Amino acid sequence: MDYKFFKKQNVELKTPKEIEKMRIAGRVVGEILQKLSGIIKPGITTKDIDVFSEKYIRSLKMTPAFLGVRGISYPFPASACVSINDEVVHGIPNASRVLKSGDIVSVDIGVIYEGYYGDAAMTYAVGSVSASAEKLLEVTELSLQKGIEQSLSGKRLGDISYAVQKTAEDGGFSVVRDFVGHGIGRSLHEDPQIPNFGKAGTGIKLLPGMVLAIEPMINTGSCEVCMTNDNWTVVTKDGGLSAHFEHTVAITENGYEILTKV
Ligand code: MG
Repeated sequence: MDYKFFKKQNVELKTPKEIEKMRIAGRVVGEILQKLSGIIKPGITTKDIDVFSEKYIRSLKMTPAFLGVRGISYPFPASACVSINDEVVHGIPNASRVLKSGDIVSVDIGVIYEGYYGDAAMTYAVGSVSASAEKLLEVTELSLQKGIEQSLSGKRLGDISYAVQKTAEDGGFSVVRDFVGHGIGRSLHEDPQIPNFGKAGTGIKLLPGMVLAIEPMINTGSCEVCMTNDNWTVVTKDGGLSAHFEHTVAITENGYEILTKV
């Protein structure tokens, strides 16, 4: 989501019943992302990814969360965001965008079940990719994992941000500032905003019942991004590669639960 500077954070705690619904939505997101790893290969189009995802969601009588989300000029026209190479997030699926060996492709999926949301993303290597692309995927996924490991009752939001940033920068990459993770529940984007950069020990205290969509967006070059003229697709300014991994994570009494993992 777009990063507007921290205002008051109205963080809503979810009941176990609510988390149960988010677990169902989250599982479907996780299943789609897992199945896509067997589908994504050279020759398929970004539209194929969207069609597969939407069919899967509808077959379970659930609702794609991204279709129709309002943007700066028109609603998002698809169920999956599919972003290739220097595209950071919010790529629009297109029947004439064909994946080729050496590409990396980020897929972001959201599902609504009985009014509750699940949201996750993964970046895939298409065919064989360069060593630096492979490292970018590894480090970005690791930075998400390190952020998730900080999602514990009593820790601070900045502990998550710091862990993501440190992992990404130690790996030699840069962290996108303009888009951040978010709380999630009865809306796709709730408080708190979760930057992928920050200071450990700062920010709001994490509590059981908080559900967070943690989503590092990591670049090989500079952290700067810009909007393209379709008014949705965000790209790196310098043309470097960008990767995106995301999970929806519930903070529990004695740990965390990744709701979008299968
Ligand atoms: Mg998200």
